[in-house]
Amino acid sequence: MAKTPEEIIRDDIRALTAYRVPDSAGMVKLDAMENPYGLPAMLRARLARLVEDAALNRYPDSGAAELKARLRESFAVPAGAALLLGNGSDELIQMLVLAAGRPGAVVLGVEPSFTMFRMISAFAGVRYVAVGLQDDFGLDTGRVLEAIEQHRPGLIFLACPNNPTGNLFDADAVERVIAAAPGMVVIDEAYHAFAERTFMARVPHHPNVLVMRTLSKIGLAGLRLGVLAGRDEWITQLDKLRLPYNVSTLTQMVACEVLKHGTVLTEQAAAIKLERGRLLRELQAIPGLTAYASAANFILFRISHAERVFDGLIQRGVLVKSLHGSHHLLADCLRVTVGTPEENDAFLAALTRTLNA
Ligand code: PMP
Repeated sequence: MAKTPEEIIRDDIRALTAYRVPDSAGMVKLDAMENPYGLPAMLRARLARLVEDAALNRYPDSGAAELKARLRESFAVPAGAALLLGNGSDELIQMLVLAAGRPGAVVLGVEPSFTMFRMISAFAGVRYVAVGLQDDFGLDTGRVLEAIEQHRPGLIFLACPNNPTGNLFDADAVERVIAAAPGMVVIDEAYHAFAERTFMARVPHHPNVLVMRTLSKIGLAGLRLGVLAGRDEWITQLDKLRLPYNVSTLTQMVACEVLKHGTVLTEQAAAIKLERGRLLRELQAIPGLTAYASAANFILFRISHAERVFDGLIQRGVLVKSLHGSHHLLADCLRVTVGTPEENDAFLAALTRTLNA
């Protein structure tokens, strides 16, 4: 008799709910921190020609040498750091957690933060401990240091800027966490392009710091490319967990070519930052709404009856992200990605109509 999923699949996996991606067809899509701008026609034509000539019958360059060289330049990766590439930074998080998942190991994070730190730890059967942020979403350094003392985590994740709150943690506080950590500290800089700060240059100076980046937020979410920079002694071990051809030929090619024209992405990020300022001011002018300053390409805001507001926005064709119910600090919170000026206007109009309905 064949066994049922109940008998075969791990109980903890069956108890999980799958990561849900809502249907966004036909909507103004402001839920996933994508760059709203496409690539210029000239560059798209170049990419088309590259794809035309790609040797898709062959496996990709497993070491992705050319792409790594290009990334070193684009991301100012210091000489003392090695690189590991992932199919998105999600895959890098998976490699990190699997590698640190000794029996009894703890992965430490803060909450609210990016949900995949917790979820991937759960997939890997590794204990995840999260320390609550302060009411202003700042790092509660005292409690993080206590948790480090108590749990001796082999791996710590800090997203700077943090998702979904948008703030940068105080640099001195992060340094104190790094100094106290017995294991790896991953500074997840997914939103680096919209912030004024990076730990990248410091990687060679801290034995246990790794900096993670992604191309997803700067215009290439569809490619799936994550980058981890760290000392060679860490990267060599983590690389053993990488599936041999995890970054496809097309991803390598397209990423290389787009990064060669990196000013396109920098200019788009600058436009997004300008719009972020305007969107924040407009949101802050709405009575009863609290909008939080952001160093990323999204804005978190609080409004009473957030779930009704979320539904009202959907009815008016605008998709944002509802965080209500995910953490007590996020009660009645919604998160809107900064779009084009037109998309932001559509969002603001839909919001005003929803609130006046
Ligand atoms: N880190 C953070 C902080 C994020 O917000 C996200 C995406 N929402 C990721 C990592 C994952 O990005 P990707 O897998 O697309 O590289």
